[in-house]
Amino acid sequence: MAMAKTALSIGANVFQFFTRNPRGGDAKPLDLSDVAAFNAFAAKEGIGPILAHAPYTLNAAAARPEVRVFAENTMRDDLDRLEHTPGAMYNFHPGSHVGQGAEAGMDLIAAMLGRIWTKPYSTLVLLETMAGKGSEIGRDFTEIRTVIDRTLAIAPDAKLGVCLDTCHVWDGGYDIANRLDEVVEEFDRIVGLGRLKAIHVNDSMNPLAAHKDRHEKIGQGHIGLEAFRRIVNHPALKDLPFYLETPNELDGYAAEIKLLKGLAQC
Ligand code: FE
Ligand code: FE
Ligand code: ZN
Repeated sequence: MAMAKTALSIGANVFQFFTRNPRGGDAKPLDLSDVAAFNAFAAKEGIGPILAHAPYTLNAAAARPEVRVFAENTMRDDLDRLEHTPGAMYNFHPGSHVGQGAEAGMDLIAAMLGRIWTKPYSTLVLLETMAGKGSEIGRDFTEIRTVIDRTLAIAPDAKLGVCLDTCHVWDGGYDIANRLDEVVEEFDRIVGLGRLKAIHVNDSMNPLAAHKDRHEKIGQGHIGLEAFRRIVNHPALKDLPFYLETPNELDGYAAEIKLLKGLAQC
């Protein structure tokens, strides 16, 4: 509830939050009366969809079984909780294969999602496009599509989408600053725009294909302001929810929301 009021106060109509400490651990018990108050407030104020972000330590592709067990239990617990906030989406980093190879890693992720989807959750689960740092899976659109296909082969009813992180795809080698149309077309060809449900809107501290994943304030990084003007106005993107993950305090976010709204032509 407090998060919704904060979002509104800085001019946002969507927001992302961590389901628990981003470095892992237990989530606070759900306060159901607060959840009910949030749902009513969000409906009244037109807030949403909200995006829940899994902890960074959630790695379904880990080599150590106990890490995979933590990933599965955490995602299941998060999705159980999200049943109380209809319309929310859940975003997670597909994982890092830590030397086992991308093929094995993608199999592990799909297997976990398949086991989770033996329960008919209503929340849409988004795989985030990654920068390809270390052994990250989801470093290109083909890996995202592969995890989706392998999951659907196990659990045809799994509700899966994709969250495109502008910093990550840039760091991953997709030139959204100079070839946005081609990148969007490539996404459509490989994954399908129907699966694209959210944008993480971040500039990057690093040049194209750096595989680093260091977010920068909008317009102050290597992607640049003109690229964000094209991104927020692109016909395939402009109606999606945009979530900022830039290095800012609240007043910085308020300014960036204003900036992005100004770039978006009516
Ligand atoms: Fe993320
Ligand atoms: Fe992100
Ligand atoms: Zn990132």
